[in-house]
Amino acid sequence: MNLSVKIFISLVLSVIVGLIAGEASLPFIKWWIAPIGTMFINLIKMMIVPVVFCSLVVGITSLGDTKKLGRIGFKTVGIYLVTTAIAIIIGFAVAGIIGPGVGADFVSGAQPKVKEAPYIMKVFLDMIPTNPIDSMAKAAILPTIVFALFIGVGIIKVGGEKADVLIRFFDASAEVCYKIIAMIMEIAPYGVFCLLLPVVAANGPKVLLPLLTVIACMAVGAVIHTVGVYSTMASIWGGHNPVDFFRGMSEAMMIAFTTCSSAGTLPVNMKNCQEKLGVSREVTSFVLPLGATLNMDGTSIYMGVCSIFIANVFGIPLGVDQMLMIVLTGTIASIGTAGVPGAGLIMLAMVLQSVGLPLEGLALVAGIDRVLDMFRTTVNITGDAAVAIVINESEKKAA
Ligand code: ASP
Repeated sequence: MNLSVKIFISLVLSVIVGLIAGEASLPFIKWWIAPIGTMFINLIKMMIVPVVFCSLVVGITSLGDTKKLGRIGFKTVGIYLVTTAIAIIIGFAVAGIIGPGVGADFVSGAQPKVKEAPYIMKVFLDMIPTNPIDSMAKAAILPTIVFALFIGVGIIKVGGEKADVLIRFFDASAEVCYKIIAMIMEIAPYGVFCLLLPVVAANGPKVLLPLLTVIACMAVGAVIHTVGVYSTMASIWGGHNPVDFFRGMSEAMMIAFTTCSSAGTLPVNMKNCQEKLGVSREVTSFVLPLGATLNMDGTSIYMGVCSIFIANVFGIPLGVDQMLMIVLTGTIASIGTAGVPGAGLIMLAMVLQSVGLPLEGLALVAGIDRVLDMFRTTVNITGDAAVAIVINESEKKAA
């Protein structure tokens, strides 16, 4: 049986067992089952910094010249920004039609503790590592990427024998990382079961009901964006038919759905793109780590849906200028969102603030954030892969 089928079966099983077990068995589940899920996640996390750093350096050095790097970088970031803006608009459209929160009986007095939203320039400021070792130790991906970029460019500029030694070293290190990731993936079905069971047992169907419309909007938006935008990109510009594309992505999508972490899914996404979708290693190792931190289309759909939901709940009409503002800040916020569970919720504060929507709305969304996160993370990593396929094709033509 193939791995993604096994993962899917364990996902379904965890829902069934979680609903049957319910809250009563939560202490047992938390004590004995949840830690196994955490161990699985930790194993994947263990590989994030090494694989990002080594493969990015290899990716950059394999481009051979800094001009090519600039060209791919420009195209990648350009496509990322356009798909992100489209995602927010889809979020608006779906929420506008379904109308989550319309006529909702808002319980006033819910005062969420909102973390200070980061201001826009801080996102850019934080990209430059003052101490790269510290950034790596903290698994801060964006500064690690910037550092890897510099190391890669430095190696290209040095050239010759000295550069060759380093290129071979990073290439071998990346290879070892991929091997370890493949080993970790063997236990994914068990990891996924143990991760999901506590979530289902704790939340049950009841908690989800009042906010089902928001979840529905997120799910519909995710499907529209994934099927409409990504499979179109993959087939028109990437030379993959949609069925191939989704089949190739299924493992990574399921890991994203259950872990809610783009960064955590990155190693699997890289493996799938190379082995199943035929994306070259140089493109994979540049486009995907960048995407796992910069490109968050699912998070953008979520920003669109949640702003409409919160506006509806509080009876605040949103004008076109406010919607444009949400598209702008949402795009920037999604760039600054870390690829870890729940990061989008914090960035939503920045978007709400930008148009004066009440931050109390976050409390409502927070309750179902984990479920929304499952959808948004799946979209996030699928978008990275779709862009990788497109860049891979365009580079083949440019070569
Ligand atoms: N969990 C998401 C991700 O890792 C980020 C978010 O919270 O929106 O892609």
